[in-house]
Amino acid sequence: MLSWAMPNPILPEIPHGRGIFCNRTLNMRSVRAIGYDMDYTLVDYRVDAFEHMVYAQARERLASEGWPMDGLAFDGLMVTRGLVIDTELGNLVKANRFGFVKRAMHGTRMLEFTEQRDAYAQTLVDLSDSRWVFLNTLFSLSEGCLFAQAVDLLDQGALPRAFEYASLYRHVRAGVDAQHIEGHLKAAIAAAPDHYVVQDPEAALALLDQKVAGKKLLLITNSEWSFTSKMMAHAYDRHLPGDMTWRQLFDVVIVSARKPVFFTEHGPFFEVVDESGLLRPLSGPLKAGGIYLGGSAAQVESDLGISGDEILYVGDHMFGDVHVSKRTLSWRTALVLRELEAEVAALEGYRPIETRLMALMRDKQSLESQLSQARLTTQRLHAGYGPPSNTNPKSAEARVHDLRNQLLALDAVIGPLAKTGTELTNGRWGLLTRAGNDKSHLTRQIERYADIYTSRVSNFLHATPYAYFRSPRGSLPHDPASAVTGA
Ligand code: IMP
Ligand code: MG
Repeated sequence: MLSWAMPNPILPEIPHGRGIFCNRTLNMRSVRAIGYDMDYTLVDYRVDAFEHMVYAQARERLASEGWPMDGLAFDGLMVTRGLVIDTELGNLVKANRFGFVKRAMHGTRMLEFTEQRDAYAQTLVDLSDSRWVFLNTLFSLSEGCLFAQAVDLLDQGALPRAFEYASLYRHVRAGVDAQHIEGHLKAAIAAAPDHYVVQDPEAALALLDQKVAGKKLLLITNSEWSFTSKMMAHAYDRHLPGDMTWRQLFDVVIVSARKPVFFTEHGPFFEVVDESGLLRPLSGPLKAGGIYLGGSAAQVESDLGISGDEILYVGDHMFGDVHVSKRTLSWRTALVLRELEAEVAALEGYRPIETRLMALMRDKQSLESQLSQARLTTQRLHAGYGPPSNTNPKSAEARVHDLRNQLLALDAVIGPLAKTGTELTNGRWGLLTRAGNDKSHLTRQIERYADIYTSRVSNFLHATPYAYFRSPRGSLPHDPASAVTGA
């Protein structure tokens, strides 16, 4: 029996943005094991603080190579997750679900519509081509911001040596990469975790519920052991009952997992034998309560006797956590998209304008259809064919003229309203999940690879380990209007 040290939380009314949204029906009762990523999944960071730190250290490194970095600062709104770096042209772009570029920025300057069209009219974003680099996680923000600023410096001729945009990207990437690998970043974060980590007491209870409901819980992180143990203890131990620690939540802990290769190859496991991180090669199968390094998802499946759709993997990295585990092993997948709460709140705030906009768009559609008919009438009258008509050419032309004017007046109202809708949450890029009127490239990937998606792990608390997530029926362009609009 677990004794609870804290008052039993009364579940508050949950905002819509904290829901669990479903692309493919998932019955949690059929899930036997739940694997969790750590960074930005089980452990939530203050993005601005974390990325500020990575940026500052990478900036220092570039400055030491003679780059003129004075006056440059991290801007958390410069880029967003889901944008794509075009390493050929030195741009950041936002693409829709088909890969069409809907907005673009060269260096730190947004392109005008005509510039964007000239650059991308013949080009689709294709992530299988190394020209394009997708910003997969919140860890990508410092890299995207620094690259955009580096392009400005290159264009100004301010860099100490020559680069093409692609080699410039690789150089910036290496600078950011080094910060994650070289220890001082992690040491600084581990030394002041309160500054970087967001406490979410409900996440501990959600995991405990799942464990007691009989799910095997796995932690599979790319972070190294020393960082993992500090972050998990900081984020979980204080929220668990009695003397329980985060270690007791998990059947298996795997650090330095090297995702996505973890999902696709058969690397060896090592056992972490003490707190200092001492290693020895694993002989035999994974054992309950063990801490391991490296390894492979294939061995996890065979040693635990669980496979494919019996495992749900929860992570924040669109490619490394979700896409690859789904494509390679057919695991059930959940994407943690922290930005979703702000996104949903912005959409809710925008709803009155959207309702008005939809009504105006219906008017516009009706006027356009009347205009098409009026133009056809004048065409037939002028060319002298078609069914007999008692309209004379002059009044038909006047009607065309009048309808055109009505449309122009309507567009003048629609334009500014529609523009505010494209600037929600971020003036440059708008909502993560939309691109113009359409779904964004990020949304398309979420639809394809994430069975469910949600803003944070603690949202599972409200859903319970017994939830049945059902995908919506989904609308199609040919659905009767009442089914689409709910009218
Ligand atoms: P996970 O999300 O728990 O799998 O851990 C992500 C790990 O990847 C963290 O230790 C990050 O510091 C690290 N990481 C994030 N971005 C980069 C990068 O650009 N290069 C190398 N490591 C990274
Ligand atoms: Mg992560």
